[in-house]
Amino acid sequence: MSQEKAVLITDVTLRDGHQSLLATRMRTDDMLPVCAQLDAIGFWSLEVWGGATFDACVRFLKEDPWERLRKLREALPNTKLQMLVRGQNLLGYRHYADDVVEAFIQKSADNGMDIFRVFDAMNDVRNLQTAVAAVKKSGKHAQGTICYTTSPVHTTAKFVQQAKDMVALGVDSIAIKDMAGLLTPTATSELVRALKDTVDVPLALHSHMTSGLAGLCQLKAIEAGIDIIDTAMSAFANGTSHPATETMVAALKGTPRDSGLDLPALQEIAAKLWEVRKKYHQFESEFTREDVSVQINQVPGGMMSNLANQLKEQGALNRIGDVFAEIPAVRKDLGYPPLVTPTSQIVGTQAVMNILADKRYTTITNEVKRYLQGHYGAAPAEVDKDLRARAIGSEDVIDVRPADLLAPELAKLRKEVGELAKSEEDVLTYAMFPDLGRAFLSEREAGTLVPEVLEPIGQSARPVSEGGVPTEFVIDVHGESYQVAITGVGIKGTGKRHVYMTLDGMPEEVVFEALNEYKADGASGRKSASKPGHVSTNMPGNIVEVLVAVGDTVTAGQPVLVTEAMKMEAEVQAPISGKVVEIFVKKGDRVTPGEVLVEIEAGV
Ligand code: MN
Repeated sequence: MSQEKAVLITDVTLRDGHQSLLATRMRTDDMLPVCAQLDAIGFWSLEVWGGATFDACVRFLKEDPWERLRKLREALPNTKLQMLVRGQNLLGYRHYADDVVEAFIQKSADNGMDIFRVFDAMNDVRNLQTAVAAVKKSGKHAQGTICYTTSPVHTTAKFVQQAKDMVALGVDSIAIKDMAGLLTPTATSELVRALKDTVDVPLALHSHMTSGLAGLCQLKAIEAGIDIIDTAMSAFANGTSHPATETMVAALKGTPRDSGLDLPALQEIAAKLWEVRKKYHQFESEFTREDVSVQINQVPGGMMSNLANQLKEQGALNRIGDVFAEIPAVRKDLGYPPLVTPTSQIVGTQAVMNILADKRYTTITNEVKRYLQGHYGAAPAEVDKDLRARAIGSEDVIDVRPADLLAPELAKLRKEVGELAKSEEDVLTYAMFPDLGRAFLSEREAGTLVPEVLEPIGQSARPVSEGGVPTEFVIDVHGESYQVAITGVGIKGTGKRHVYMTLDGMPEEVVFEALNEYKADGASGRKSASKPGHVSTNMPGNIVEVLVAVGDTVTAGQPVLVTEAMKMEAEVQAPISGKVVEIFVKKGDRVTPGEVLVEIEAGV
């Protein structure tokens, strides 16, 4: 492609913009009013759908994600709609059989999707082949993706080879996906030039502003001949999101690569979107600011806020620095996977467990085990052999495309969800998120869908201590964080609590924000672990399965529970050998660290 062509722009406001900054909470009703204006701009595409948007629709907004797609299709008749799809994982967190992948792509195309950006967290091209073939079959645009990362094995030559392999699969374009904001301007030039020299398909750059470099990287990419850049409208740009659309359009004005987009028209849309953003103030987070430390710890924006929330839940936010330091170590042990869903969760959760247990790999998640067995595909580099031996013992390691081992499953899923599904789309919703999807479909049938409540602008409802139990707070004053625990009755009601304290002799107004209400012997009614036979977890989460019954004899190390935290499952093992005398949890229960979940009596 000629370097003198206009730069094409994919605006990601309606997918990655609010995903990166507002926990993916923007509702369809806040999107539709700007659609006519967005549609008139002449974007190459609008990214509107992906795993997190689908998940948030079902989980929090109680919207049918397929309905959102149809409404957006109708409201944006002149613009190509784009989605992000996790290869063989689609929008879920496991590998699906090929028949599900084919059905999902076809239904997405039928409901209005035009461009499918397909990626695999491992950059294992075998995991893209079914999705790419399905997109081609539907007559739509397949964009292959390079997940950009840095490691001793991630060389330009390796990325170029991946691009060639994806072209051989038949992709229509290729995206460089820099989810963590790791690219530097120089690295961008080198990579884009190498790819432009090798492959003929259009090239797109998706780079997050996390380290503040993405605008500079885009300019370098444009100089090196990139065809398409991803931007977000200013109201949903910068920080852990993307360079602002208006900024990049302005930067190119009057140059040979002028995008040709109407800057005043963009500014009008931005003004409306700034108002929309205010409505979601409760999801604003300090972890979405620009921070160059991502160049060291490689943690993508979405992952940082997830980790922060996870640690907050148990008042361990002060360990976040340790977790960030542990992440590269876990990543090395796993053969340097890029960090993006689902590998970001796999690595992140294991790192959290390694830190909270104060000992590495005392608990190994089921996902790490499956990863080490090859069920996510080939790791970019050798995995740590000792860890693998410890995690999976003598179990098999596979080297085929993981989905080759999966029998067709669509018919089974259809049967499982039964009459709750009114369409094939409903079946696929259930396939992506079995528990959530079923709950959504049931509530829809019963007419009881209730979206989460948005806090009125200017207010912030936070948990208030009921007295007796300490509530932990983090207070920020002049950029310094202080962690305090308060016991007392306080004043009930919503709204931030304004108090005054003295720092360095100066009275300061500070606003308290509750981190968690740690309930030892609290609302769950469970007692605190105090004996060797008390089984507890070190992560807050949900019970997925209870593997033992009262009266069972167990040996130390035998799994007794499966828990889920941060979308990862882990087995909880018996701390001692003995007899199960009492079980305090059932499937679906929410548990917090330190609670007794199962009691084992020694020496029976
Ligand atoms: Mn992204």
